[in-house]
Amino acid sequence: MADRLLFLGTGAADWKMEHKETYPDFRRYSAALVNDDLLIDCGPHIFDFAESIGRPDLYDGVTDILITHGHRDHFCAESVLKLAEKQTISLYCDHETRRKVGEHANIRFVHLSAYKRKKVGRYHVVPLLANHDAVTTQTKKAYHFILQTPEKKEIFYGLDGAWFLRPSWQEMLKYQFDLMIFDCTVGDSDDWRLFEHNTIPMMRKMVAEIKEKGMIRDGGKLVASHMARTLHVSHADTARILAQMDMIAAYDGMEIEM
Ligand SMILES: [Zn+2]
Ligand SMILES: [Zn+2]
Repeated sequence: MADRLLFLGTGAADWKMEHKETYPDFRRYSAALVNDDLLIDCGPHIFDFAESIGRPDLYDGVTDILITHGHRDHFCAESVLKLAEKQTISLYCDHETRRKVGEHANIRFVHLSAYKRKKVGRYHVVPLLANHDAVTTQTKKAYHFILQTPEKKEIFYGLDGAWFLRPSWQEMLKYQFDLMIFDCTVGDSDDWRLFEHNTIPMMRKMVAEIKEKGMIRDGGKLVASHMARTLHVSHADTARILAQMDMIAAYDGMEIEM
């Protein structure tokens, strides 16, 4: 059976749920559901997404949650606790995130270590350090993930971060991906956030190098996500610009089959 990744949200932290009806091309905070059992990030907007598609049961099969980092657009303790009311969950996160959730009978905490391969439910995951905010502190980490599915599909999930840290790039070079998801927060602007997020020109250089090194499988997909509301043109224009570099502009509800 094919593996699936569903985008539950594709926005950065400057989208506001209270303006859902008025912001054009509305995006929720970034998160993804892999098949039915693995959540990548668990922010405050995931339940609104499930409601919006008429699937209040969308997360009933979730057994494992990977947290990229503790920023409020990626992690919300209440969302994790709400899921844990119904089911037992393994939560893969840093120490700071664990402290915010608190001990819970239905939550098994698993600490991730950078570059150490870990079994996560039915998957294998290698966490890579991301060039993003608090990556250098002892208790807070920011990770990108290399994810291998039971069907041996390989996924790179790179939200949030700017460029790739050298050791992370070295690890990525060992794989051939079926799907790569990139941080594209800054659009075509020169906003200061480019010190910890990507612009489109930065991605253009990285994607060229990734193709050059043969890191994307035939038929593999390159997707840009985590768009900031204030730094992007319309979704249609962004999609057109990204298509010129063989990239897909993510939107809430987009599903990729591998
Ligand atoms: Zn973010
Ligand atoms: Zn962040």
